[in-house]
Formats: sequence, C-alpha cells, structure tokens
Amino acid sequence: MLHFECECGNKTAFFATGHMDERRIESLDMEDDDAVSYIISEDRITLKCGFCGKRYVLKNYENL
Ligand SMILES: [Zn+2]
Repeated sequence: MLHFECECGNKTAFFATGHMDERRIESLDMEDDDAVSYIISEDRITLKCGFCGKRYVLKNYENL
C-alpha cells in the first residue's frame, strides 16, 4: 500500500488494516515495527529509519 525505502536499503511497507472510521478513512499499520519509527506532530510527520537512523519529514501543507 505505502512503501518506505531508505537509502541504506531498509524497506518496509504500511498495509491497509480494513478498519474504516466514520469518514471512510482506512487505518494503516506497519509491516515491521522495527524497520521505521514515526513521530506525528502538528505540522509534520517525521519518519526515522530503524537501521541507519536517517530521518525523513512529511510536511503538512493543508488539512484533509
Ligand atoms: Zn536507513
């Protein structure tokens, strides 16, 4: 569903759980909890590679 691949070669995926909320937004879960960690804050999501520690950021530009 969503794939994460770090430049160190670490790869993992987020898969759809089948659980929908009342807005019909489906939850994602991580394939491997150790491969990547993430921190959600008000204006961004920071992803951290569990192997090499490199961090990536997804910024929030508009509210969905
Ligand atoms: Zn990495």
